[in-house]
Amino acid sequence: MTNAFYPHLFAPLDLGFTTLPNRLLMGSMHTGLEDHRDLTRLAAYFAARARGGVGLMVTGGVAPNRRGWLAPFSAKMTTTSEARRHRIVTEAVHAEGGKIALQLLHAGRYAMHPLLVAPSPLRAPISPFRPWEMSPRLIRETIQDFGRAAALAREAGYDGVEIMGSEGYLINQFIAPRTNKRTDEWGGPPENRFRFAVEVLRAVRQRAGNDFLIIFRLSMLDLVEEGSSWDEVVALAQALEKNGADLLNTGIGWHEARIPTIAAAVPRGAFSWVTARLRGAVRLPLIATNRINTPEKAEEILASGQADMVSLARPFLADADFARKAREGRAAEINTCIACNQACLDRIFAGKEAGCLVNPRACRETLLPPATRRPENAGRRIAVVGAGPAGLSCAAELGEMGFDVHLFEATHELGGQFNLAKRIPGKEEFAETIRYFQNRLQKACVQVFLGRRVSAQDLVDGNFEAVVLATGVVPRRPSIPGIDHPKVLSYIEVLRGLKPVGDRVAIIGAGGIGFDVATFLCVPPHSGPDDYRREWGIDPTYTTRGGLGSTSPATTGRRVWLLQRTKGKMGTRLGKTTGWAHRLALKHRGVQFWSGVEYLQIDDQGLHIRRNGQTDVLQVDHIVICAGQEPLRDLQQPLEEAGLRVYCIGGAHLAAELDAERAIEEGLRTALSIGPHAT
Ligand code: FAD
Ligand code: NAP
Ligand code: SF4
Repeated sequence: MTNAFYPHLFAPLDLGFTTLPNRLLMGSMHTGLEDHRDLTRLAAYFAARARGGVGLMVTGGVAPNRRGWLAPFSAKMTTTSEARRHRIVTEAVHAEGGKIALQLLHAGRYAMHPLLVAPSPLRAPISPFRPWEMSPRLIRETIQDFGRAAALAREAGYDGVEIMGSEGYLINQFIAPRTNKRTDEWGGPPENRFRFAVEVLRAVRQRAGNDFLIIFRLSMLDLVEEGSSWDEVVALAQALEKNGADLLNTGIGWHEARIPTIAAAVPRGAFSWVTARLRGAVRLPLIATNRINTPEKAEEILASGQADMVSLARPFLADADFARKAREGRAAEINTCIACNQACLDRIFAGKEAGCLVNPRACRETLLPPATRRPENAGRRIAVVGAGPAGLSCAAELGEMGFDVHLFEATHELGGQFNLAKRIPGKEEFAETIRYFQNRLQKACVQVFLGRRVSAQDLVDGNFEAVVLATGVVPRRPSIPGIDHPKVLSYIEVLRGLKPVGDRVAIIGAGGIGFDVATFLCVPPHSGPDDYRREWGIDPTYTTRGGLGSTSPATTGRRVWLLQRTKGKMGTRLGKTTGWAHRLALKHRGVQFWSGVEYLQIDDQGLHIRRNGQTDVLQVDHIVICAGQEPLRDLQQPLEEAGLRVYCIGGAHLAAELDAERAIEEGLRTALSIGPHAT
């Protein structure tokens, strides 16, 4: 039956020997769980998403041999005992009615170990290691290893495999002239560079059989110099069709590309045009990908005929029930991925397990099961003070456990500092988290009191069993002579538009908020994919190799100095996978990054500083203070003195190293810890 809300998204896809129930693919995402010996947690993670109704899932990358490992001892599929260990995953998924494919990924020169190999011995700019050049014999063996891994995947119960041929991994390294300088039958003209990809596909098809799903992830836009040309993408896609692929997934950008492709500043669906370009050149179903995080965007891509399926990866970390909620017309309840990368990719690149900033349960399904409503909690009154991320998370959780929750917020809106974050160009997605919590609070029957700055006495009089203080932080005001000068503004005044800001601005403090304020002051609000392509130099006509064009970022024309006292490179504590793009976006706008600065005085002339032993005056119109924050928990002491049980969470607990991930997780864990107490 046609779905009333998203008819294209929930149309089945007939692939001949199998039919997918809908057009939603959960794209491959390395979580770290696949590297465990015991795959119980991985099984629970996938089972939750299968239960949530996604059409097909792809695991994180699993190597076909040791040389292909991403890192020492990461996942591989080389023996029957390894295949057997995966049965717990496939059985859990099938028990929920889902389908799952194993991704076969050979890291090539991106491997973080000394055994790394590549078509040519060229070090990747993002790797400390130079790869060994593969001999023709090793190439043949590697092809056989892919075939063996596919056969083992089948033995393990997988419904198919995805061959990872994009993002700059080994297969992609053979395809592109950038990394393939060989002069034998595996390099040179396109048909030689394609040979490895095609032979891998043939080996996989031969060993896994015809009734086994093969997705090929084809790099359709490399975004690096000497990447594939469009004609080569088409020719390879046709060769893959001829040699037995069932589905073509879109790969966008190599890991070493200096263009953000999945960060929050990338507009939703910004790359569906690439997939659309290939339509008509092959008959295979095509999968669009990158920054598709809502059912509306997914439906739009499918309805406009740009693709046959859509791949969403991080959105399924953020919400295991994405598909079910969309199918039932409950899209407003989806916990939307805000593309921050903080708890998923940044963690993975730091060698840790993935999680999700907006969903602390992601990848911890066995450790943090969903809260259950318990009748004995009815009537137990709990006050939550502050509706920032910490308070929202705690209140929603307590409400779902059946407590009588009263949430007090001093301002007239939910969200706390997320209301500032969402004003930063490229961070508009933060508004989605507020919308999500608003719906959760409503469903959980939490009583919300906006515009209520509560005092300790209010709470004592309220007859609460416990009080959760989620009152957040106050900006730090450094003791610089002249700090009260009218030129000085707080980041709150700037971001809320409470005071006009001049054309020449110095920012004191270059943490996350300093960078965000610089972005707010220099980058005009994002208006869509064209602006994004112009800013980063993506050629929509695809006339150059790799699809690179010239850059022309839009700017507000302001001159901005971003300052910090610490010496050395700035922004080192920004996210590993996004910090470079933040820095580059500001550099494009001529922002001056000055570290090792001593602040001497502020007066009518501007900001007096000492730097490299020299004094100087920055003649600016305004000085914006972004010098960190202090906890706001003035209610704690009087409440405790009155005998109330008090919990401090989020910024109110500890302002140092605070981020929204910690705030939301503390909210959840505090709610769980309140649960067991008897009245
Ligand atoms: P807050 O968000 O500060 O919320 C506290 C709430 O309590 C406020 O709404 C306040 O009005 C209310 N309150 C205080 N006193 C009372 C009272 N007596 N009665 C009632 N209500 C009261 N973090 C990230 O992880 N990633 C990012 O990319 C990111 N970007 C940011 C960008 C900007 C511009 C800013 C300002 C912050 C950003 N943050 C980011 C930080 C993140 O927003 C905070 O870590 C998070 O909001 C802290 O949550 P919280 O609930 O502890 O406090
Ligand atoms: P922060 O990251 O701790 O940065 C504070 C900045 O102020 C530093 O650059 C520090 O540099 C400077 N500073 C500290 N004390 C000072 C003083 N007394 N005088 C002058 N300068 C001083 O804090 P934030 O920028 O306020 O961010 C708060 C939290 O929000 C962060 O922990 C972060 O996790 C989160 N956030 C994250 C992002 C993101 O993109 N991931 C974005 C925004 C916010 P010096 O000491 O060297 O001068
Ligand atoms: Fe999305 Fe951020 Fe969660 Fe990653 S951590 S899945 S980017 S919301």
